[in-house]
Amino acid sequence: MIDLHTHSTASDGTFSPEELVYLAKKEGLQALALTDHDTIDGLEIAYQIAQKENLPFLCGVEISIQFNGPGHFHLLGYFLHPQIPEINTTLVKLKKAREERNKKIIEKLNSLGIKITLEELKNIAKGEIGRPHIAYLLVKKGIVKTFEEAFEKYLKKGAPAYAPKALLSPQSAINLILAAKGAPILAHPFTLKLSYFELEKYLRTLKDFGLIGIEAYYTEHNPDFTKFLINCAKKFDFLITGGSDFHGKNKPDIKLGKGFGNLKVPFECYEKLKNFLEKFS
Ligand code: AMP
Ligand code: ZN
Ligand code: FE
Ligand code: FE
Repeated sequence: MIDLHTHSTASDGTFSPEELVYLAKKEGLQALALTDHDTIDGLEIAYQIAQKENLPFLCGVEISIQFNGPGHFHLLGYFLHPQIPEINTTLVKLKKAREERNKKIIEKLNSLGIKITLEELKNIAKGEIGRPHIAYLLVKKGIVKTFEEAFEKYLKKGAPAYAPKALLSPQSAINLILAAKGAPILAHPFTLKLSYFELEKYLRTLKDFGLIGIEAYYTEHNPDFTKFLINCAKKFDFLITGGSDFHGKNKPDIKLGKGFGNLKVPFECYEKLKNFLEKFS
């Protein structure tokens, strides 16, 4: 069992980077990657503890990308080492964009008569603030009953308190990761919400941009879709990766390494990705 897609308190997970590595050890994972949203702040400590614990570990990040289609586009970047100076400036910009966006969401919620402040959010989040923290606060305040309801009623794209944030284009994000000697991988392709035909066409475009791989194994992919992605990977010579998108208590149904229970990411995915990074750097 391995897991190459996880979140810590550096973004919107509820386990600290340290706790995540210890949990991976306890659960018997054979390899782990930490892939927080738009930040690499958790990597250094996770890397060190993984080394101490003899757990094969890759450094990662998950970046939100501009996408004009129906769904949303997340790009994973994988690296051998936790210091990635080439991407710092961009991550600082993304952090600012996120802060601007959070302010707008708070303003919109306030104008809907919901009292919520940035201070309250800062008390909940240990790292970057994201919509899950806002959802958590709305539940805590009794404004909605569930996390899902918070997204449905207020926070999802098109909902009354939604605010967009400035995003990188697919090309610029792929180039950024390649320039840092990393591997750009398309995260959870199902969230693009494209048909099989359209997705295959788009994968060809992404290949031309320099995409290295696709996340074929994912908590919410059904076996047919995973098979389709593996075939696409053969066709376009992509690496295949996989992970659960573990967020701890923010997504309580998703278990580390296991997803909803039947996720099984082959160890080979880790080995091939690591080999690629070693040859590349
Ligand atoms: P943000 O980075 O602030 O845009 O928030 C992204 C996080 O919100 C990701 O972890 C998503 O899984 C989560 N998220 C996005 N849409 C929903 C939704 N409809 N229901 C629950 N969680 C969501
Ligand atoms: Zn998240
Ligand atoms: Fe994602
Ligand atoms: Fe994720």
